[in-house]
Amino acid sequence: MRAVIDFLLHDWLKVSELTARERFGDHSPETFGQVLDTCERIARDKFAPFNRLVDTQEPHYDGDKVILPQATKDAWDAYAASGMLSAAQDYAIGGMQLPYTVESAANAFFAKASVSIGAGMLSVGNANLLMAHGTALQQRVFAFNEFSGRFSGTMCLSEPQAGSSLSDVATRAVPDGADFESDPLGPRYRLRGNKMWISAGEHELTENIIHLVLAKIPGPDGQTLAGVKGISLFIVPKKLVDDQGHLTGERNDVSLAGLNHKCGWRGTTNTLLNFGEGRFPVRAGQGGGGLDGRGAGAIGYLVGAPGEGLRCMFHMMNEARIGVGMAAAMLGMAGYEASLAYARQRPQGRPTGAGGKDASRPQVRIIEHADIKRMLLAQKSYSEGALALALYSARLVDEQHTGQAKAADEARLLLEVLTPIVKSFPSEWCLEANSLAIQIHGGYGYTRDFPVEQYWRDNRLNMIHEGTHGIQAMDLLGRKVLMEGGQGLKLLAARMQATASRVSPEWADEARQLLDALQQVGAATQAAWKDAEPAQALANAVPYLQAFGHTVIAWIWLDVAQSAQGDAPAQVGRRAAARYFFRYELPKISAWLQVVSRRDPTCAEVPEDAF
Ligand SMILES: Cc1cc2nc3c(=O)[nH]c(=O)nc-3n(C[C@H](O)[C@H](O)[C@H](O)COP(=O)(O)OP(=O)(O)OC[C@H]3O[C@@H](n4cnc5c(N)ncnc54)[C@H](O)[C@@H]3O)c2cc1C
Repeated sequence: MRAVIDFLLHDWLKVSELTARERFGDHSPETFGQVLDTCERIARDKFAPFNRLVDTQEPHYDGDKVILPQATKDAWDAYAASGMLSAAQDYAIGGMQLPYTVESAANAFFAKASVSIGAGMLSVGNANLLMAHGTALQQRVFAFNEFSGRFSGTMCLSEPQAGSSLSDVATRAVPDGADFESDPLGPRYRLRGNKMWISAGEHELTENIIHLVLAKIPGPDGQTLAGVKGISLFIVPKKLVDDQGHLTGERNDVSLAGLNHKCGWRGTTNTLLNFGEGRFPVRAGQGGGGLDGRGAGAIGYLVGAPGEGLRCMFHMMNEARIGVGMAAAMLGMAGYEASLAYARQRPQGRPTGAGGKDASRPQVRIIEHADIKRMLLAQKSYSEGALALALYSARLVDEQHTGQAKAADEARLLLEVLTPIVKSFPSEWCLEANSLAIQIHGGYGYTRDFPVEQYWRDNRLNMIHEGTHGIQAMDLLGRKVLMEGGQGLKLLAARMQATASRVSPEWADEARQLLDALQQVGAATQAAWKDAEPAQALANAVPYLQAFGHTVIAWIWLDVAQSAQGDAPAQVGRRAAARYFFRYELPKISAWLQVVSRRDPTCAEVPEDAF
């Protein structure tokens, strides 16, 4: 895998060119290599050996604390000590000013070694949000301590009754006393409500847990605004801190209602949290004294302006979704490598010659069967294609942050359109890759004696969290391809055309096929929206997402293939995966787009009682 990452970073994306930029001026290919070496080593030593252990020894609650295996704590400490939590931050606050592209690539090792131990992504996302929207003191007290690994972070959006539809969150925040606005940590509120599915919501890995919580502030009439406009964002620490970041010794009113027992990804705790139910009354009699005067109500500090909560949260979405796409791609890669190793040593069956099979000959290894090679190429094309797209998108994030104004704006717009694909393509197709990895193992793949079933279970989450597949599809067709006059789609099309126009002669057919696919996607986008109500246009949004994703990955492979020169086996393999994608995968888009273009009503109109 290291060779794959090095090839994509250097030969394809030319990441070293970033060192010409002021922010990255101290870096070089060597420093990038050192970061990758360190992460590869920690992932190999502290994460990979414990991937099965954290699956079998699920987190459990002893009534007081959530217990995790010691290996999880050791892995967290090693990760924090590596400096990766603050890798992208300024030198001034202890960071490395590492490009996000390299940070993403380095984190990929952890996702592959043990996706569910690797919980740094949430803390970094939480702290980055505060760096963008928090006050200087909120940054110093909360974000800096997350970057050092002393505290960890969560994202508390979902509620039992509000998952995809965040406008329906019911958690409430009311001002905490008459002096609520004068708290140095930010306007102080009392929160009450339930948050469901909160990853890393309770554990003993760090001194404190910093929850970022979406809640609504009622107006003077006691009512909250309907819709997302009413949603605000709060920092709710598990343990209260002073303005120096020291623990005050007070427990905030946040309690664990229970752990969720998951299909996979079991190394990370997943929690139902009760905010402000009065289990840990806090600061009774001060100011407002809480919702009921007895200290009930979790203390939270407002981030940004009231009503801006979802906008602040969405600030982090691009990177969070690239992180999900990367995790899914790495699980795909892990299954690919495991099934490749298995296929190379498993003898089974004989070739069929002109006279049939010759039972007197020894069996062949299954990698010699065309169908096994098909399943290996499919996995390779999905996983390496997804990894390449995730790194390309990470490179766009660097462009957005450090490029010239026009290039930065183009990167922003391209990211808008690509983000649903970066999240959804790996989630769907690298899950399929894991299914093929099980298939290659035959019956053995269906047992817990081999790792591939766990990869599939771990990967199954990715189509669900960070916006379900259906929600990504509606975001793409309903918003992203239309926004700013369709400019993002046009930019993406121009990039695809540029690749198609510079291919070497042996890729001319694929270039034509890509342009044809692009034309089909464009036509379907128009047809879906022509004189249509949104409900009609969006009824087949998922097939649209699938076709769009396949077109994007075909483009990525065509572009990658141009850098894959020579007869070295790895280059031959890349070209084979690219050809596989064009011949076996891309033709699928016509079927997907047909139902989009004619706004097929089969699903939308089937009456409920016909099921
Ligand atoms: C393991 C795990 C970890 C998680 N971690 C976190 C976390 O740390 N923080 C956090 O806040 N949340 C977290 N989540 C929650 C996750 O984001 C939600 O599960 C997800 O957003 C879906 O919400 P839901 O489960 O309520 O499903 P629902 O929203 O009820 O969706 C059910 C189905 O209906 C579909 N659907 C919903 N609305 C529409 C619509 N308008 N049109 C068409 N189809 C629709 C969905 O696509 C889905 O297929 C986690 C979830 C899991 C399982």
